[in-house]
Amino acid sequence: MTRIAFIGLGNMGGGMAARLVGAGHEVTAFDLSAAALERAEARGCTPAASARDAVSGAEAVITMLPAGPHVRAVYAADILGVAPVGALLIDGSTIDVESARHVAGEAAAAGYVFADAPVSGGTAGAEAGTLAFMVGCEEAAFARIEALLAPMARAVLRAGDHGAGQAAKICNNMLLGISMIGACEAFALAERLGLEADRFFDIASKSSGQCWSLTSYSPWPGLVETAPSNRDYEGGFAVAMMLKDLKLAQAAAAASGASTPLGGQAEALYALWERQGNGGRDFSSMLQFLRGET
Ligand code: NAD
Repeated sequence: MTRIAFIGLGNMGGGMAARLVGAGHEVTAFDLSAAALERAEARGCTPAASARDAVSGAEAVITMLPAGPHVRAVYAADILGVAPVGALLIDGSTIDVESARHVAGEAAAAGYVFADAPVSGGTAGAEAGTLAFMVGCEEAAFARIEALLAPMARAVLRAGDHGAGQAAKICNNMLLGISMIGACEAFALAERLGLEADRFFDIASKSSGQCWSLTSYSPWPGLVETAPSNRDYEGGFAVAMMLKDLKLAQAAAAASGASTPLGGQAEALYALWERQGNGGRDFSSMLQFLRGET
């Protein structure tokens, strides 16, 4: 049993914290949203009045926050110097590599072990404990990190030193953003051609078009039980979050001189869909955009 502070109990963090409770850990939780905190309490977490209260006395701290500025702010104000020195600090949010390295440096200077550990697998993976963690940390710290993340994971993979987890995540999500648009375009074209969606799904699932966006997260409703398309694209991975990741990828590509033209196109399409008021909907709602629904 480890005393864990969990900060950020949204679409992902809520399910992840519940997995840690289920594994027998003592989880103290904090979120700025009272509703999120209440849901975490109903799932066995102990609610804290503030992030500082949550982390004082914790042996490990896990953050699952929207973006880099949130992570930098929470670490500076509420974690470093507040959590007991030597505590294991893990950030599971998807943020820019520079922020991850900045927080790692500050954490090391203050006597903590830190890892950037963004995840893949979506809200269904968070609920089921089948996330893939991409970890950036010192090699010597990895075994301890892996053990703590295990109840939430089907895979915990070390990508390299600090920031490498975020680099892997940004590349993965650029691929995901592009492949989801591809799956949506294929469904939209199949419909125009008079091909039944379930027939196309069955065939492409066993053919070379098969990909995670199609077979694990189908944008067409009624084909994959856990997919947000069955819940009118509510919950899941928000368009605004995908757009954030694609912007991170494009910024990283510009800084490093990589060519990512499809990543750029994907960013432009999700930005248009967000501007039409769909930022909070699941990113597979791109299907509606391509079918001309607004
Ligand atoms: P979310 O918006 O549902 O949850 C974020 C939570 O953080 C919210 O409940 C919010 O109230 C809380 N929060 C914000 N600032 C805070 C602060 N200062 N103190 C305490 N709580 C604070 O987002 P999410 O979908 O859970 O995503 C979280 C992270 O995980 C993001 O970085 C996202 O890119 C990444 N991610 C999401 C998915 C997904 O499918 N949703 C998949 C992989 C990775």
